[in-house]
Amino acid sequence: MRLKEKVALITGAGQGIGREIALSFAREGADLAICDINLEQAGQTKKEVEALGRTALDLKVDVTNYAEVEEGVNKILDKFKRIDILVNNAGITKDSLILRLSEADWDAVLNVNLKGAFNTIKAVSRVMLKQRSGKIINIASIIGIIGNPGQANYAASKAGIIALTKTTAKELASRNINVNAVAPGFIQTAMTEKLPEELKAKMLSNIPLGRFGTVQDVAKTCIYLASEDSSYITGQTIVVDGGMVML
Ligand code: NAP
Repeated sequence: MRLKEKVALITGAGQGIGREIALSFAREGADLAICDINLEQAGQTKKEVEALGRTALDLKVDVTNYAEVEEGVNKILDKFKRIDILVNNAGITKDSLILRLSEADWDAVLNVNLKGAFNTIKAVSRVMLKQRSGKIINIASIIGIIGNPGQANYAASKAGIIALTKTTAKELASRNINVNAVAPGFIQTAMTEKLPEELKAKMLSNIPLGRFGTVQDVAKTCIYLASEDSSYITGQTIVVDGGMVML
């Protein structure tokens, strides 16, 4: 029980990696604020968390909208009185080569993946500053480190997340708030399911550990970063990719 009685806010927790982080945190004793743009999916995760014996609140929060984020944070405080852990997980892709990449698709990806994290950090850090403690985990991607043809918007947003992580870590360190990023490689979720089989086979051949990642692989790293086991780590990006990228 490494997160006993901690309160965690997770964005995009209605499915995929965010859902698994919520369930893993619940198994470690945390109560959960399940935020997602899709309230029905958030409600599903809430039920699963409750089945594990923990308390959960499901909220419709579009992370691109600061007013909605702030309203969500206030509802979480009404119910739980504190927020110990924030996981910025909500993310989207809209892939295209730069020459064909529309301004709308550039803006959409940057707004969810980067501005969304800024919005939640801004709203939650005021709470953590008062508490004089907190853990912030931003879900980046190896694409933000190495780039990828057809993903200029996604790569820029994830590189931005890594820089945002370092700056936030420096700003909040004196108040006992750790801020780190997790950069997954290829993880089996709805986001990667839509990729062509040929591309998946090529990617698999580049993974030294010889398998795609699971949502549990990412969630386990998040438990570590959310727990006291990582209390002397801040501003870092942990790559979870089976060895694809070695820095
Ligand atoms: P996913 O299955 O598509 O889940 C993302 C969740 O975020 C969905 O529930 C989605 O809701 C929600 N969401 C989208 N826009 C939102 C918004 N504006 N506000 C709040 N919630 C929003 O994706 P995933 O694969 O679990 O990815 C989770 C995170 O890991 C993302 O940041 C992604 O970039 C990162 N990541 C994933 C991989 C991978 O291989 N899967 C690799 C590296 C990094 P809807 O379904 O309704 O849109």
